[in-house]
Amino acid sequence: MTAFAHIRPKSAARGLKAFVVVVCLVILGLGGWRDWSERKQEIARINAETLNLAKSLVQHAEDTFEVADALLVDVVDRVEMGGIVPDAARRLDAFLVERVQSLQRIKSISVYEEDGFLLTSSLPGHRGKVNAKDLAFFQHHRTSPSGDWFFGPLIRDPLGGDWVLTLSRRIDKPDGSFGGVAQASIPPRYFANFFGRFDVGTQGSITLIHKNGTLLSRYPYIERAIGADISNEPSYQSGRGSGSYEYLSPVDQVARMGGYHRNHIFPIGVLASVGRDETLADWNREFVFRTVVMSLLVATIAALGWILSAELRRREEAEAELSVLAVTDGLTGLANRRLFDKQLETEWLRASREKSPVSLLLVDVDQFKAYNDIYGHQAGDECLRTIAKTIASAARRPGDLVARYGGEELVILLPDLDEVGAAAVAENIRAKVEALCVQHEANIPSRTLTVSIGSATCVPSLDRSRNGPESLITLADAALYRAKQGGRNRVAAAKAA
Ligand code: GH3
Ligand code: MG
Ligand code: MG
Repeated sequence: MTAFAHIRPKSAARGLKAFVVVVCLVILGLGGWRDWSERKQEIARINAETLNLAKSLVQHAEDTFEVADALLVDVVDRVEMGGIVPDAARRLDAFLVERVQSLQRIKSISVYEEDGFLLTSSLPGHRGKVNAKDLAFFQHHRTSPSGDWFFGPLIRDPLGGDWVLTLSRRIDKPDGSFGGVAQASIPPRYFANFFGRFDVGTQGSITLIHKNGTLLSRYPYIERAIGADISNEPSYQSGRGSGSYEYLSPVDQVARMGGYHRNHIFPIGVLASVGRDETLADWNREFVFRTVVMSLLVATIAALGWILSAELRRREEAEAELSVLAVTDGLTGLANRRLFDKQLETEWLRASREKSPVSLLLVDVDQFKAYNDIYGHQAGDECLRTIAKTIASAARRPGDLVARYGGEELVILLPDLDEVGAAAVAENIRAKVEALCVQHEANIPSRTLTVSIGSATCVPSLDRSRNGPESLITLADAALYRAKQGGRNRVAAAKAA
């Protein structure tokens, strides 16, 4: 019924739900943001540490090759000055054995003659038995007049099986022609052992890489990985510079993160890295713990919020129901007298401001006392409900209000409707009730249930001293009286106020 449209449950319960949702989202958002930034900081710390380690270790590798090169320079000087003859070679033997013994990082220093045969070496017992003429470093020096060092590829040591890294220099004859090669062998295992002194966790690794992508040495040492070409691996782009990388190791398929740094003198770089899972394990554990605690907290807040909101809603609905009951007539379900009085006052004021008409119909059942007497009070009640429904269906404009005025009298407030309109509504109601054809033997002459209607219309004045809303009721009442006097089952309009 339109009269009760203004009585709706308030939305505090919905507001509370929205507030709880926002609070939960804020808690989750802040927690997630904090975890994410902590993780970023942790990764930045690891990257900085591994990059520093890579820088130190590549410096150490450079030092190792510098030491070897200094020895080679010395050896080349001695050979060039003494000539490549057996006597000079014997003198060199003792020098080489003594120097290399004191240097762990160099396995051997050897001198090869121009035909590739070993002249002398810090590892005794190989003279004349080994020929290097097919090896890359030897071929390089034979064909290149350059006196600079040559950083050779990883080879199987001609003096005995192991992998070695080679650094070599050309020996010139007095006339400048090719006289042989001085060569130093550095075992990859030396680097692996040295790298192993640094803590990179159980999943970490430190790798020495040639700039062409050949894996030169590695901790942990895996023999089959030495010499592997990793230049095509996504984890290694040839010639890449210093920086931090995350990659899946092609050697042991472990996901790692670490720092890579290249040397600018020798064609090498060091990649120092730690196992990603191992390193982030603490963070992951704390993250899971925090997430569980946070979820429980959020779930508790949400549950409490929902319970509170449901309770609030129940109360709001109960209050709304009470508000409706307070203005409803129990028998007919129409608005009661209290709501009617309030609405009449409101519409009266509005009409006086807008200078628009207000109409009022007062409906009284004809010979109703007799109806009760004949058919009983309960039938009378039922009859009143039927008439109420009929009238309500005839006054459906927004703002129309059908109310029980008292006893068997009903009232219809029709704002913004003039006399002609009000008369039409009244006649419609009268006809509809008559058309119900409810038997009423005592209501002569029709012998069916009928109503009489008094109608009144006026344009209220702002001056309350002249007349108030009750004047409209008085007018309608007088019109109703005339309708009754006129023979009932009819509409009478009030004389203008
Ligand atoms: P008239 O045509 O002149 O209106 O005759 P009437 O008998 O209807 O006279 P009146 O309006 O004075 O009578 C009102 C009667 O309406 C009195 C009472 O028996 C009956 N009545 C009032 N309220 C109720 C109600 O709530 N239920 C029932 N069943 N009857 C009611
Ligand atoms: Mg009456
Ligand atoms: Mg009556």
